Amino acid sequence: MRLTVIGCAGSVAGPDNPASSYLVEADADGRTWRLLLDLGSGSLGPLQAIVDPARLDAILISHGHLDHCADLASLSVLFRYGPAQATARAPLPLWGPTGIDERVRQVDGASADAGLEPYDWFAFAPGQKRVLGPFAVTAARAWHPVPALAYRIEGPGEAGGRATLVFTGDTDLSDDVVTLAHGADLLLAEAGWADRDSNPPGIHLSGRQTGQLARRAGAKVLVVTHVPSWVDPAATLAQARAHHSETLLARPGIVVTV
Ligand SMILES: [Zn+2]
Ligand SMILES: [Zn+2]
Repeated sequence: MRLTVIGCAGSVAGPDNPASSYLVEADADGRTWRLLLDLGSGSLGPLQAIVDPARLDAILISHGHLDHCADLASLSVLFRYGPAQATARAPLPLWGPTGIDERVRQVDGASADAGLEPYDWFAFAPGQKRVLGPFAVTAARAWHPVPALAYRIEGPGEAGGRATLVFTGDTDLSDDVVTLAHGADLLLAEAGWADRDSNPPGIHLSGRQTGQLARRAGAKVLVVTHVPSWVDPAATLAQARAHHSETLLARPGIVVTV
């Protein structure tokens, strides 16, 4: 599997970095399969430089905050009026926690009973597992102020066999997320907080907590993401590395293979 960071700024798009969006690709059955994790504010532009969105096989949304799902409404406009309109295409599977369908309509300014073209919406519940092509996706409840999921994706490893990638979405440290991340080859974990004692519970991890999560879960490689543009990324990385040495910082355009 290959993880490409499209955007990784925390909470809002930054001056040189869109909000959360990550492309996961794997080769199987003579073709490339593509899952997109989140489509946050500003990410649809640079996504198009990496892949034609019409070639995605599914989009998984972690939760309904705009830094994770705002550009779903823009993508529906692109499909409606852009080059893809002339192509016969099956609805694009859209998976996420309860309420993402309503969120897309709100951002789009559509009425509550409007259709959700071009998406084929599925409300993913914590503990559920779904298979798409070579990917097996499991969801767990994340600890965040709105319904939120973390995802575990198993797929073909670049070196053969199967590999595991876990994406925390936005979450505070919880047993559910530690369990989901158990033994992951790649843990993509959010550090939305600077490291300080005054952080309120139930919202984000800090860099230190991403390292603690990786160590408790026995993850191999930790990729720290979702650092807001006003937080020092070098300090966040150092705090994570103090607990888990195999740690990288997400940046737009980097590719990590597992
Ligand atoms: Zn966020
Ligand atoms: Zn959030």
